[in-house]
Amino acid sequence: MKPAIYLDNNATTPVDPRVLDAMLPYLREHFGNAASRNHAFGWEAERGVERAREQVATLINASSKEILWTSGATESDNIALKGAARMYREKGRHIITQVTEHKAVLDPCHWLGEEGFEVTYLPVDRFGRVTAEQVRAAIREDTILVSIMHANNEIGTIQPIAEIGALCKEREVLFHTDATQAFGKVPIDVEAMGIDLLSASAHKIYGPKGVGLLYVRRRRPRVRCEPLFHGGGHERGMRSGTLNVPGIVGMGAAAAIAGEAMESESRRLAGLRDRLWEGLSGRIDAIHRNGDAHNGLSNTLNVSFAYVEGESLMMGCDGIAVSSGSACTSASLEPSYVLKAVGVDDALGHGSIRFSLGRFTTVDEIDATVEQVAQAVGRLREMSPLYELAREGMTPDTMESTS
Ligand SMILES: *Cc1c(COP(=O)(O)O)cnc(C)c1O
Repeated sequence: MKPAIYLDNNATTPVDPRVLDAMLPYLREHFGNAASRNHAFGWEAERGVERAREQVATLINASSKEILWTSGATESDNIALKGAARMYREKGRHIITQVTEHKAVLDPCHWLGEEGFEVTYLPVDRFGRVTAEQVRAAIREDTILVSIMHANNEIGTIQPIAEIGALCKEREVLFHTDATQAFGKVPIDVEAMGIDLLSASAHKIYGPKGVGLLYVRRRRPRVRCEPLFHGGGHERGMRSGTLNVPGIVGMGAAAAIAGEAMESESRRLAGLRDRLWEGLSGRIDAIHRNGDAHNGLSNTLNVSFAYVEGESLMMGCDGIAVSSGSACTSASLEPSYVLKAVGVDDALGHGSIRFSLGRFTTVDEIDATVEQVAQAVGRLREMSPLYELAREGMTPDTMESTS
């Protein structure tokens, strides 16, 4: 059955029709290679690419010369981490990150750890936050790079990016942020925030899949990354390969729309998110909200339902598309490492759902979601002996110790 309500916008978003309209001419008549310098087909493609570069740069107060096009945020994170580590390895071999990063940051960090770099993984508090103080205490003489995500994809927590950036500037350490979930949703200013490298992706902001960007600072300091691919020397030599012109034009259009809509959209989504939480918590007992309610993404609500399994709950509301745990790890039975890091125990972690709202989410969909989830939780708990015991005044802990 096809889910009727899509609340998985942190996994990916539909392409906005305005974005598709901007892209179509670049699939049809303007199909040229942006690197072809000898004819109008190439020039037209290049114009589209350069306009898009301006559009995305404007959104983060960068210069268009500082934007590299990539195949998505996974690639951007890999270039930023491996490319900067290799470029600056003579300066030092220490890198700092934190435990709730996306796998696109953690996996390259693990790989670098095997290549002779030393990586410090900072813990987070129960809201999912790291502090600039933690970063300060972890910086050493040989630290070359700090990588802290702007907003978390699972729980929505927003990190104190400007404070960490200022600290990194003061200590002359490069600062990378995976801003995939923040780009286009919250204001970003690479100058004011002291960001040297920033990753973003089109398909999280109503653009197409398979295109992203890496911002690479050019002044104070001039940052360089060793390329991962060698080829034609495109994108300042840091990312060779023929550009995905329609995708890039789409990312530019998506960024322009996101910039214009940011304030009103985030206000509207925060209203819907709060309505969803009030609806769920008003109807269902023994539930817990994960993340930072005061400093989180306006579209993200992560909820743990005690005494139910996330997978069963998702099956119980098959008209709604959501994520249990993280989209990227939900193939495994391990509870989400992000929820573990914020102190959610394994049992509760298994009963957790991420609702991520988007531009096309409606009030009616939120109300229908509350209804369906409340009914499904009710049905599942009716079959749960643990829930029965809890209702009689015993917690799972006392129950375990007496069984
Ligand atoms: C989606 C996501 C990525 C990966 O982006 P792709 O463009 O799909 O490779 C990286 N980091 C975060 C925080 C994300 O949400």
